[in-house]
Amino acid sequence: MFRSIIAAAIATLLGLLGGCAPVAPPVESAGTARPVIAITVDDIPQHGGMAPGETRLDLSRRIVAALKTESIPAYGFINGARAEDADSISAVEHWAEAFPVGNHSWSHPNLNDVTADQYVAEIIANEPMLQRLSKGRDWRWFRYPFLAEGEDPEKRGAVRQVLAQRGYRIAAVTMDFSDWAYNDVYARCAAKGDEAAIAALEEDWLDAVRHSAKGSRAVAKGLYGRDVPYVLLTHIGSFDARMFPRMIALYREMGFDFVSLERAQAHPAYAADNDPRLEPRQPIWALMQAKGVPDPAPRAPKVDLATLCI
Ligand SMILES: [Zn+2]
Repeated sequence: MFRSIIAAAIATLLGLLGGCAPVAPPVESAGTARPVIAITVDDIPQHGGMAPGETRLDLSRRIVAALKTESIPAYGFINGARAEDADSISAVEHWAEAFPVGNHSWSHPNLNDVTADQYVAEIIANEPMLQRLSKGRDWRWFRYPFLAEGEDPEKRGAVRQVLAQRGYRIAAVTMDFSDWAYNDVYARCAAKGDEAAIAALEEDWLDAVRHSAKGSRAVAKGLYGRDVPYVLLTHIGSFDARMFPRMIALYREMGFDFVSLERAQAHPAYAADNDPRLEPRQPIWALMQAKGVPDPAPRAPKVDLATLCI
């Protein structure tokens, strides 16, 4: 599962890089050459299990505080159907007071499992809440649930066309360490009070952060000769809330700065995401074959997330 998600993110990156014409050097590489990340937070207001005593509002508060303390911008992606109780509603409102929000569909379907019409209805159903929460800010960014943009080219094209008509940009993902996979297992370990298991989870998470950052940079450099601004996928989960301060510190230690989603995707590599009327990206295998860029080495997980604390 890890590999497939990392591969999906790298596939996206490869696609981005391969799908555009030669471009001028990005702003970020012209001066300090520090690589940059735009942080995005999905599944607001709820994702995965929680540790005993936590609320959805707590998690939003802690993640927002970690970002604000470091003056880091972020963009949140909302599933309106998950604002289903007072706590979740408070969480979504809290996030939207702090940071902008975009569309992650009403109830998080996989485009490969529904018709294009059903999917479009999901996009539209989420809009009134986004409009209400945004108070005039730009909410017309769309993040595909499961990062599934459609295996069937016709369906993929139909959805892109609707996104274009409705004025959306697509939020890409070019850095991803499967943060979502830690939330349920952490909730289990916290319920058992298993501090040793939680420490192992923390170590594994930080290792995943480090590995995925190196992998994304290696792919970008292999294909493109330099960094692109990266768009990082995270979620509003319990373990995310616990680890965000350490994650941010680790990225800084690795030399990264942080920028807004808007600024990251201003890079020409994201042209096909910023304008869904354009042709989507090329398949990963074609790009890799053409450039001879090797697969990044897979990471060896330090814990078994499926069985830990069961
Ligand atoms: Zn999601």
